[in-house]
Amino acid sequence: MSYLSRVPQTDRVLMGPGPSNPYPEVMAAFLRPMLGHLDPEFLAILDETSDRLRAVFQTQNRLTFPISGTGSAGMEAALANTVDEGAPVVVGVNGMFGERMSEIARRLGGNVIQVAAPWGEPLDPDEVLRAHPSPSVIAVVHAETSTGVRNDVEAIARGKGDALVVADTVTSLAGIPVAIDDWDIDVSYSGTQKCLGVPPGLSPITVSDRARSRFVADRSTWYLDLSLISGYVEQRAGRAYHHTAPISMVFALHAGLGVILEEGLEASWRRHEECGRQLQAGLEELGLALVAPAACRLPQLTTVHVPRSLPAGVSEADVRRTLLERYGIEIGAGVGPMAGTVWRIGCMGHTARPRNVELLLGALREVIGG
Ligand SMILES: *Cc1c(COP(=O)(O)O)cnc(C)c1O
Repeated sequence: MSYLSRVPQTDRVLMGPGPSNPYPEVMAAFLRPMLGHLDPEFLAILDETSDRLRAVFQTQNRLTFPISGTGSAGMEAALANTVDEGAPVVVGVNGMFGERMSEIARRLGGNVIQVAAPWGEPLDPDEVLRAHPSPSVIAVVHAETSTGVRNDVEAIARGKGDALVVADTVTSLAGIPVAIDDWDIDVSYSGTQKCLGVPPGLSPITVSDRARSRFVADRSTWYLDLSLISGYVEQRAGRAYHHTAPISMVFALHAGLGVILEEGLEASWRRHEECGRQLQAGLEELGLALVAPAACRLPQLTTVHVPRSLPAGVSEADVRRTLLERYGIEIGAGVGPMAGTVWRIGCMGHTARPRNVELLLGALREVIGG
């Protein structure tokens, strides 16, 4: 079988936890001719990409740029530059990505104090703030993609005292409001393949001057050392090679951010909100039960209990396989303690359209009966 015949010739509807469908303008950007990574034309596009990221993160932070790596590289960069050996690090854990933050902080030698909430429930901001009298870093996930729950990072950042707050906005950025400066978040990283509507490969990051002044002295990472990278990405004369930027990915992110800002950031939030609520109402109409409580339920990532009454001999994995093979729709399985018992349905980026929601609801009705 040739390579090309294995690649589906029609688009999947990507309604898993990520990647989402990229905007068409984004895919067109991949066709732009290659530029060198120090070519002034490329640096101008990189600078404009960083400006667009500032608009989407709602920040003035000078150090704002796309890290060359996926969301996890942003997570690692955020923590490797702020977590010192032995320093108290409070990490909120109510899902897989809080656990990942916690594990990275542990590997960096941080004295990790976990504040847990059950999967499917939000963190209690007061509990996070009371966990240690003077933490050096507080790390939290804004939108927990493993559970569909929104954590109140704003309340946590407002009460942080002298700590640096590191917020994971991988699944929230452009999907629900994120206001880095208003909320006083010190470091935040995201990912391209969720609500930004760009393929996976870059991790936008933004860092306050306060956080920069407190970067740990001897970072264990060279590639993700933000002081070294800043010599290449900061908008000034005389920029020096650090590593070769993934040029085409930067073109793609530049285009995706352009689409979002042209639509309007608030309009993008509204579209995600409307599609998410349409999906959630439709799932309930099919008799399915949503996992996340309404007050902290994300519109862009819905967790729903697998119905107990599937047709005889049909497993939850069979349902997902049929959706994929017969209808070209991908949804996600549960992970961790929710493996096998929930589905995770994304409505992010270009995927967040009423027609996709209706397509999925109709297909699901045919597969599970309802
Ligand atoms: C997807 C995701 C990540 C990890 O991003 P990768 O691109 O898979 O490395 C981190 N945090 C959250 C909340 C995510 O949803």
